[in-house]
Amino acid sequence: IVSWRLDIASHRDEQDLQAMARIDPLTGLLNRRSMDLSLDDHFERAQSTGQPISLLMCDLDHFKKLNDQHGHAAGDRVLKRTADRIAAAVRDSDLVFRYGGEEIAVLLQDCGPETAGRIAEKIRESVKGPGRRAADAALPTVTISIGAATSSYGRTEPRKVLAAADDCLYKAKNAGRDRVAQTTLA
Ligand code: GH3
Ligand code: MG
Ligand code: MG
Repeated sequence: IVSWRLDIASHRDEQDLQAMARIDPLTGLLNRRSMDLSLDDHFERAQSTGQPISLLMCDLDHFKKLNDQHGHAAGDRVLKRTADRIAAAVRDSDLVFRYGGEEIAVLLQDCGPETAGRIAEKIRESVKGPGRRAADAALPTVTISIGAATSSYGRTEPRKVLAAADDCLYKAKNAGRDRVAQTTLA
């Protein structure tokens, strides 16, 4: 009986470890590794169903300045709050990844350009809102810029959609930040 219990315990530990290996500890979002491992699969699925798929690349604006002015710990809390708000603004079937330091990628399945643009705007607004939690009031506000790219029939290679979203993000930054720039690919 003892060894049987240990078996179950170690099996559960293993599952926990596997799940943890895909989660970013600060934000609780899926991590970059998870994105690298699953992106091809999601695009293959889109291609086989012929459904559109969209990728949003979100980047906090002037986050270095926020860290400098309020400290790294406050920066961490703002990043966590931003991640929570982005996750809350999308459907459960959408995937939210911490792509890099202060960059969050959102994969919207079965989602064409119109809906992608609407969701991007919803995210952008929700991030800079005052928030309902008392703890939020003490934290500095932040805005984000978003680059959105849609593959209309799921046919475009994931890395090209990623590059297009990055390109749009760059345009959104240059156009003054706190905005969405969008593109559609075949
Ligand atoms: P931009 O509007 O052009 O994006 O300006 P920025 O300052 O946000 O961009 P930049 O790439 O110059 O700096 C990113 C900053 O994000 C610097 C880095 O210290 C901060 N950062 C990245 N990851 C974390 C994190 O996990 N916690 C905190 N507190 N800061 C982070
Ligand atoms: Mg960045
Ligand atoms: Mg930034």
